Amino acid sequence: MFAVGNAFVGILRNVVEKIVNVKPVRYLVNWARLYSLWPVHLTTACCSVEFGAASCPRFDVERMGMIQAFGSLRQCDLIIIEGTVTKKMGKRVKKVYSQMASPRYVIAMGACAISGGIYYNSYNIHKGVDEILPVDVYVPGCPPRPEALAHGVLMLQDKIRKGRVNITKGE
Ligand code: SF4
Repeated sequence: MFAVGNAFVGILRNVVEKIVNVKPVRYLVNWARLYSLWPVHLTTACCSVEFGAASCPRFDVERMGMIQAFGSLRQCDLIIIEGTVTKKMGKRVKKVYSQMASPRYVIAMGACAISGGIYYNSYNIHKGVDEILPVDVYVPGCPPRPEALAHGVLMLQDKIRKGRVNITKGE
């Protein structure tokens, strides 16, 4: 019985792999992904206040399809890095990223996350979180305003809209 079930799942997978990048299907999959971004924010400094403000009623990024930052890492598919990332912290950042659901996306928010900011010359700082994670969108500023983060989310959604779906790699 299990063998029959496994064979059926295998056939189903082959069919899905074949059709998932047909334009209307890909559009639907990407549409579902881009309007249900579930973020986890990794905060080490002051940009977090702007992130908090972006979720508040005045800016309300939820209306754009980014759910508030609750839930476990297994549900989250977007990590927003705010603040400087030390080399010691970098290992934890990578661990958090590895526990997130695929496909997963990264936003680097603020000068510290993008380049190390005012600690750029420190021996113990990553000069940008892109040294350890594949960043999709950079939101510059010190701090960036909530509108800038909202714009970054729109840019990420545009990227997801145009992307290909690869279920083998979970992308
Ligand atoms: S970019 Fe500016 S506001 Fe943001 S964490 Fe760095 S120092 Fe603070």
